[in-house]
Amino acid sequence: MTVRIDLHTHSDLSDGTTSPMELMWAAAAAGLDVVALTDHDTAAGWSEAATAADAAGVRLIPGIEISSRRRGHGVHLLAYLPDPEHNGLAAELGDILAGRDDRLPAMLGQLADAGAPLAESAVLRVVGPHGVVGRPHVADALVEAGYAADRQDAFERWLNPGRPGFVNRYAPRTVDLVGLVRDAGGVPVLAHPWARGSRVVLTPADIAELAAAGLAGIEVDHPDHAPADRAVLRHLAGELGLVVTGSSDHHGAGKVGHDLGCNLTAPAELERLLAVAGSARRR
Ligand code: AMP
Ligand code: FE
Ligand code: FE
Ligand code: ZN
Repeated sequence: MTVRIDLHTHSDLSDGTTSPMELMWAAAAAGLDVVALTDHDTAAGWSEAATAADAAGVRLIPGIEISSRRRGHGVHLLAYLPDPEHNGLAAELGDILAGRDDRLPAMLGQLADAGAPLAESAVLRVVGPHGVVGRPHVADALVEAGYAADRQDAFERWLNPGRPGFVNRYAPRTVDLVGLVRDAGGVPVLAHPWARGSRVVLTPADIAELAAAGLAGIEVDHPDHAPADRAVLRHLAGELGLVVTGSSDHHGAGKVGHDLGCNLTAPAELERLLAVAGSARRR
């Protein structure tokens, strides 16, 4: 029997729609043996997920999908098993979360100017009591208010770069973040590098530069990657000695086509990834 490993999922502590506990039970129900919880810019779900994973009989790999920027484009970096209390990392996550909070009033102002006024309370209701504020929450509030048909439509009409509700927010440089994650004992892996957005700033030469800075892996098998791109990325990972991961990037009901386990990581690749975490901690 093969071991089923999914290394990228979101709970409602960021822009997923199920609690960390529900997510662990859903992972077990989907036949996963190993699942990583990788909420955007927060480790707040780890302890609830760990308890639930034990009960549900799945193995949890704690992670964070951290926002970064490279030549003006957003790049998502998966950090597996970092020490969330590492001073530099905790401070960086604090700055990123503050940037998310500060962005919201600016977005709401621009949306109002463009004819889609939303109350801040309507967005915060979507976020819930503990969540990290993100564009997906604004998207859901726009849908609720009748300004868009669904999340995807809300992004296309209002929230993508160049659309009226888009506002930049703070994120560290990708290359610096790679070093910081290593310093915090974590394993940095590029999330969906060739999905829209980050592709232009993650050419093979860019990825090689990040590998030299300590990048440990590439998320090759991701729903947003076409088969031909996966083949090229897999080859590149081989050349650079990078771990190859695969994952669903599950967001609960928040994203279609991202069912738990729809892409998997090979057991040998997980072993390589865990060895990096071990070696970082021994340093
Ligand atoms: P933020 O980090 O708050 O700027 O929001 C980015 C997040 O929005 C990404 O991590 C995705 O989960 C989500 N997202 C981006 N584009 C879309 C889209 N077109 N449809 C649905 N969700 C999206
Ligand atoms: Fe997301
Ligand atoms: Fe992402
Ligand atoms: Zn994600």
